[in-house]
Amino acid sequence: MSIGPILAQTVRHFLPELNAWIDQIEDPRFPPFVTYSKRFLLWWGLMLFLPKLSSRRQLDYQLNTNGPAVLANLNRLADTRQTTRPVNKTLEYFLTGIGERPLCVLRQNALNRLIRMKALDEARLQGRLVILVDGSGYLVFNHKHCEHCLTRRHGQKTLYMHQVLEAKLLGPAQTVLSIGTEFIDNRDAADSPPGSGEERVKQDCELKAMRRLGAKLRSDFPQLRICLSGDGLYACGEGFQIAKDYRCDYVYTFKPDRIPTLWQDFQGLLTLCPDQRVEVTTPQKTHQVYRWAHLQYTDSDKRDWSFTGIHCREIKRDGTQSEWSWVTSLKVSRETVVEVATGGGRERWRVENEGFNTQKNSGLNLEHAYSHTNWAAYYYLLQIAHLLLQLVEKGSLLRQLAQQAGQPTAVKLFGSLKNMSQRLLESLRYLDWPDEVFDVRLARKIQIRLDSS
Ligand SMILES: [Zn+2]
Repeated sequence: MSIGPILAQTVRHFLPELNAWIDQIEDPRFPPFVTYSKRFLLWWGLMLFLPKLSSRRQLDYQLNTNGPAVLANLNRLADTRQTTRPVNKTLEYFLTGIGERPLCVLRQNALNRLIRMKALDEARLQGRLVILVDGSGYLVFNHKHCEHCLTRRHGQKTLYMHQVLEAKLLGPAQTVLSIGTEFIDNRDAADSPPGSGEERVKQDCELKAMRRLGAKLRSDFPQLRICLSGDGLYACGEGFQIAKDYRCDYVYTFKPDRIPTLWQDFQGLLTLCPDQRVEVTTPQKTHQVYRWAHLQYTDSDKRDWSFTGIHCREIKRDGTQSEWSWVTSLKVSRETVVEVATGGGRERWRVENEGFNTQKNSGLNLEHAYSHTNWAAYYYLLQIAHLLLQLVEKGSLLRQLAQQAGQPTAVKLFGSLKNMSQRLLESLRYLDWPDEVFDVRLARKIQIRLDSS
């Protein structure tokens, strides 16, 4: 099997109802003028990102009639019988009609299915799924494109942008799956006192968006046991209150300057409880010392909080030292301190390294608007495509393919993730994928594990 058929079978295995979910999207088009089925158009849109075409125009060139297998493969993915191919404007017109909301629901359906089939359970921390929260992903325009753009002076020019706060679920095998999205715009900055510095405005905006994100996560996933993982910004009264209001646990980075008095208490308490200490030497001969102390804190709104502070000092074999601290509502003991710090706290870097960076730099082209009016719809499509890609990249089908070729991993087999998307495009254009990979009943029966390493 090659990468294309593996994609088809992976989607049928993990998300057998994907096409049925697309059918539920309300179609605003006037029926007599409809040529392309919703399913076909959404798969067409996903193909903007799965082989990383980088811009909407590329659909017209890369998925055109020179690729003799494109139509047949897409028809079978979408369960359709289209006889011609649309152009990129057809997709744009369709997405403008449906808006971003149905795509957000599609992502939610996909995640719910993965959670229910227990595909993500291996990554749980004290029974909870860890959800990283981080702001990034500027879409930057040279012109004011809507009423709510954030603005920033850049030399003589004014830049107009939209920031995004993302909730990313940490799955097994280093997968990072987008589970919540809040766009940040100038309405979030409205309450900051006039003359506030840029950092203060950024913090206010992000905390407000975080509250909306928490509310949405809770209503989209009412039963899910969640541990939020976030940077030092959230280690404050409002950050604790958001976790409480939406029934989440948390591991937040703890920095000396966020709450200086609490930081001093923490340092004092650590010296008072010398027994609360665990030392670990990793296989790479890195020496780590974990210490913890129970903390109490009354915030500026007179709310009382209690939680545990964890400190980790690390000395690498070459002598370099680093240290980190976190506050957490999870149970911390001699048995759990390392898993809490590594599974909840240390994992934070992954959202930056794997999540946003991959989406910005790997050809998914996160910062490209794809459309001036309609960028949020493309944003969700990209998130869904990235989820599918990770299921393929980290799934055991691709690993078996690599092993058959005498390579330990998929990336080694293709040379790079970029090559992998190129192979996918070739496969989509030139190879007729075998019928059995589209068979839902067959795909349900096979086993696909998400493998580490
Ligand atoms: Zn705008």
